Amino acid sequence: MVRRYWGFDRLRPLQDQAINAELAGRDSLVVLPTGGGKSLCYQVPPLVAKRTDVVVSPLISLMKDQVDALRSIEYPAVALHSGLAPAERDQMQRRVRDGQCRLIFVSPERLLTPPFLDLLRRIGVHSFAIDEAHCISHWGHDFRLDYRRLAELREHFPEAGIHAYTATATQRVRNDIVAQLHLRDPAVLVGVFDRPNLAYRVIPRVDAHEQAGEIIRRHKDEAVIVYCMTRKDSEGMADALRFAGIDARAYHAGQDPDTRRSTQDAFADESVNVIAATVAFGMGIDRSNVRCIIHATMPKSVEHYQQETGRAGRDGLEAECVLLYSAADMPRWESLIKRSAAEAGLADEALEAQLGLLEEMRRYAAVPHCRHRMLSDYFGQAYPKANCEACDVCLNEIEGVEDGTVTAQKILSCVARLEGRYGVQYVVQVLRGADSDTIRRRGHDGLSTYGLLGDVAEKTLTNWVFQLVDQGLVARTGGDRPVLQCNDASWDVMRRGRKVLLLKAKAKRTRKSRGERASWEGVDEGLFERLRQTRSALAKDRGVAAYMIFSDATLRDMARLKPTTLTDMLAVTGVGETKLALYGRTFLESIAAYT
Ligand code: ADP
Repeated sequence: MVRRYWGFDRLRPLQDQAINAELAGRDSLVVLPTGGGKSLCYQVPPLVAKRTDVVVSPLISLMKDQVDALRSIEYPAVALHSGLAPAERDQMQRRVRDGQCRLIFVSPERLLTPPFLDLLRRIGVHSFAIDEAHCISHWGHDFRLDYRRLAELREHFPEAGIHAYTATATQRVRNDIVAQLHLRDPAVLVGVFDRPNLAYRVIPRVDAHEQAGEIIRRHKDEAVIVYCMTRKDSEGMADALRFAGIDARAYHAGQDPDTRRSTQDAFADESVNVIAATVAFGMGIDRSNVRCIIHATMPKSVEHYQQETGRAGRDGLEAECVLLYSAADMPRWESLIKRSAAEAGLADEALEAQLGLLEEMRRYAAVPHCRHRMLSDYFGQAYPKANCEACDVCLNEIEGVEDGTVTAQKILSCVARLEGRYGVQYVVQVLRGADSDTIRRRGHDGLSTYGLLGDVAEKTLTNWVFQLVDQGLVARTGGDRPVLQCNDASWDVMRRGRKVLLLKAKAKRTRKSRGERASWEGVDEGLFERLRQTRSALAKDRGVAAYMIFSDATLRDMARLKPTTLTDMLAVTGVGETKLALYGRTFLESIAAYT
């Protein structure tokens, strides 16, 4: 059945177990990373058992995309939400009552209304899948009040199976999901968190606009998302990228719904490839061929990082995730987190928890250890390989500036001469020998460190100072006017020549990552390009999103196998019977013309 509808050769191991739990009516908690294939787990059982199941989903856009994708393979599903016209809703409810429908997608608020509960009882629903189940827990990073009421579900349907699905769950969140939903002896299925097809890189941030532009240029005609901290940052980034000749759009929650919708649509149909966004651009983007995620600032937790980078390479093909990092991100986040905690009246304990998550994220960014290993460790899973071959550390790309120790000594002695009374910017100005009245008035142009690093660009020098702060080699006070002060470690560097590594801001890319090599193996790259064009034309022609036709993984497999008949075509991964009938000929012609 999976072969016929979806064109997949086999189920992934946990999919098999999750499907069996649903069929057996045993409660379950399924934790699979983004791209792990959660949706198939709740899509298959009702089809096999010829019954109607319910999926609870937090966003209308998410429901619509899923229903559209299911319709494209002739799978009967509906989404019942507030955006429907009354006539549409009646028609869908009729289909549901007639038992023709296999899946009903619904929001938590609607699910718990009396008429809807009545309808479900009448048709005898006895299986519920809760998608994005971490939204029920306030220990998670995406708590939603309307999810809380799902606790009532068990009272309304004491006999039904309840199945929770999520991509992010630390142990605490998992326990909370089980407790809140009153799961009974659930099958707990936790997948491997590591995403081997993603290559992770952390680069010291000197100029986010320029660096993002450089990275995007190595992904010509591919989908890239640049995550920014604030709405203003995302506008600024999109403007700067456009100025640099890259067709980018901003996306954030401050825009009107029409603008947002049109940006989402343009990204889905591949007419726009680059989006500079806040975290508002997230759930609901179902473009599986995102090849690069750039973070212009550090996110506020490793969970967020995992979730956001998880949007890359959902088709299983290689993708890269670059974090542009500066220790200056820390104080910015701290004050934002504290401010919003105060506004929300958050308990001290919860605030501490958030600051703890932030510190974990900083550690990830600041410590050059294998990134795959650090992420796996964070989620409590041992990483099996000594060398991941897919991060800047293991690919040997990390490079220090020459004379890191001497440079650090110069910076620190300037801090010492300024007697711990000035902030980063001022120290940088003195070191660069800036022509400024203030410096002259204070007599700092007479210091021996004045102009000592005059040949280093301001942004670069600022980044180096923050690297020293991050490594604990100089202290930066808190408060409104933070100043730099020497500590014991600073004197160690200055007096005893303790070695210092200052990272270069340029990421050279040495070798191809493991994922990159594997996913191109045997693929005729020219044919792949050609098939992409075919898909694009077809998508425009039929008014559907490109990914609804075939994924990049399917096109690469096609460009590897080069089928010449419809039967051959069925052997391509992701080609099921419906899509074969719809698109098979067009792609065969395209292959024939190419070869
Ligand atoms: P999640 O919801 O866990 O993020 P999805 O359900 O969107 O992941 O699936 C991610 C991708 O993997 C989709 O492109 C889907 O078509 C594909 N996929 C799912 N199951 C399989 C399978 N058994 N074989 C091949 N591809 C699969």
